[in-house]
Amino acid sequence: MLDGQTLARTMQEEIRPEVAAFTSQHGRPPGLGIVLVGDNPASEVYVRNKLKAGADVGFRADLERLPASASLAETIALVERLNRSDAHDGILVQSPLPKAMGPGAEQRVFDAIAPEKDVDGLTPVNVGLLVQKRAILVACTPSGIIELLDREQIPIAGRHAVVIGRSDIVGKPMALLLLHRDATVTVCHSRTPDLSDVCRRADILIAAVGRAGLVTRDFVKPGATVVDVGMNKVTDPAVAQSLFADGHPRLALFRSKGSVLVGDVHPEVAESAGALTPVPGGVGPLTITMLMRNTLRAARARVRVA
Ligand code: NAP
Repeated sequence: MLDGQTLARTMQEEIRPEVAAFTSQHGRPPGLGIVLVGDNPASEVYVRNKLKAGADVGFRADLERLPASASLAETIALVERLNRSDAHDGILVQSPLPKAMGPGAEQRVFDAIAPEKDVDGLTPVNVGLLVQKRAILVACTPSGIIELLDREQIPIAGRHAVVIGRSDIVGKPMALLLLHRDATVTVCHSRTPDLSDVCRRADILIAAVGRAGLVTRDFVKPGATVVDVGMNKVTDPAVAQSLFADGHPRLALFRSKGSVLVGDVHPEVAESAGALTPVPGGVGPLTITMLMRNTLRAARARVRVA
């Protein structure tokens, strides 16, 4: 098992003195502004965790809330205020934005973020720099995965990496980072035929889909490294039972709570994979840590330019 939780703690300890040095040198801590629109319960949890992690390492971490009824123009105006703020080095707009804001709203809000404060690496400028292998701010989840593979000394160069999922936030930047590290990369999606056959050729398999237990044993070459990005809340007893055998502690947890958080990788894969990230405790904590690192990076770049 690849322990993302422990690595995240280690990295936070590494970041803390760097944040303290920045603060004493520049008379202010690095600042992160998080924009939360509406009251999606999952987003509330993610944002709380990000604010807490920020405060823990010594950042100024501000929550900027708008009601679910906020318009696209109001949301963009808030982002523009943070763009102008001297106290904020990083801006994160929590996804998803309320559906009522209309199709394409998320893209327009992300596009409004100043590239030098875009700690999620989602603006066209930062995506372009990533394509050209000269990015400074890269999406947090994929960069956390590269960090994990490196620190676990799992070789990437020359390996065949298969990424399932092609989202802007995980799949595509993941594929690019692996390509820049000299892996041979295959990207799969919902229209990929014979998915399990393609995945079985992977030395490194990254699952970023959002389907509980999609990746079963027949997807995995014995000994392969499997990274499970998926975060799926299972509430259906039949699904929980298809994932965990009777007597499994996670099934007991499901029965007592009525839900359980699982990844895209079926737990049976642990028997044949060479290395596997658990859910929870794998990729999730690293994503938050990389957000801290990106914010520190953005703060340093801003004071260099100023
Ligand atoms: P997304 O935007 O919904 O993208 C999902 C991708 O999976 C799409 O490219 C889709 O293909 C593909 N897909 C869907 N069904 C498939 C199937 N049956 N076979 C093959 N591919 C399929 O999701 P996302 O934002 O990338 O997130 C993916 C998962 O990671 C979610 O569970 C999310 O909660 C989790 N996540 C976790 C973290 C973390 O920190 N741990 C961070 C971000 C996301 P098409 O493009 O063809 O539709």
